[in-house]
Amino acid sequence: ALGIRDVTMRFGGLTALDSVSLDVQPGTIHGLIGPNGSGKSTMMNVLTGVYTPTAGRVLLAGRPIQGTSPARIASQGIARTFQNVQLFWEMTALQNVKVGLHRGMRSGLLALALDTRAAREHEAGADAQAMALLELVGLAGDAATDARDLPYGKQRLLEIARALALQPAVLLLDEPAAGLTAPDVAALMQVLRKVKGFGVTMVLIEHHMDIVMALCDAVTVLDFGQKISEGQAHTVRNDPRVISAYLGTAAA
Ligand code: ATP
Ligand code: MG
Repeated sequence: ALGIRDVTMRFGGLTALDSVSLDVQPGTIHGLIGPNGSGKSTMMNVLTGVYTPTAGRVLLAGRPIQGTSPARIASQGIARTFQNVQLFWEMTALQNVKVGLHRGMRSGLLALALDTRAAREHEAGADAQAMALLELVGLAGDAATDARDLPYGKQRLLEIARALALQPAVLLLDEPAAGLTAPDVAALMQVLRKVKGFGVTMVLIEHHMDIVMALCDAVTVLDFGQKISEGQAHTVRNDPRVISAYLGTAAA
């Protein structure tokens, strides 16, 4: 689904990404892991047009991504969540998702499930679609609650529902489990499995190896901006290069 070709990103003298290539297969969950500062969020920012890479390119379904603005890239089918939750805090959960609906109109299984035609024609349809997405992430009972009043775990899930409202082909998740309690993590994993069932391809930045092992079909490991390992989660976890990269950090 997503092809990253020799992407380099420099900030002044610092090389945050050093000629990184990777292929994310359609319908899979691809883990992007690595120690703090290894370039994971920078990659997500390149993929969503927040940063223009110093070199290299990004292909979606074999075609180069057009333009660099996040809105244009979202309209081509890439949606994301952020390392620090970003929501419309003064708006209800339902309104947060509806903002996404008004911005995106993609095709695919998710679109069929949500019956986009109805949504275009009727505000009530948009409400119904937004409710369907809230149900998908287990927040149907919180539709009328302002985002700022939701517990943190639910804010994380709401961010995912809003990203899905764009009906993306690819969903990028930047540490969605960070700061969550064990029950919240279990709920998140259930949601991501359901999203995968809708055929949405995902890139998951994650520090917790048990989550990576449980969810990811393939994993890429970054260290100091370079790709140091790639493959199935259990293989990557036992790769000596990966173990030494994580030595001295709490993450492994
Ligand atoms: P973490 O696990 O802590 O979130 P990360 O793998 O997401 O780490 P990045 O945020 O991608 O790491 O940062 C990679 C490197 O690029 C770091 O050295 C960081 O300081 C640097 N960097 C990231 N964004 C910028 C920026 N806008 N300007 C300058 N340097 C940056
Ligand atoms: Mg990061």
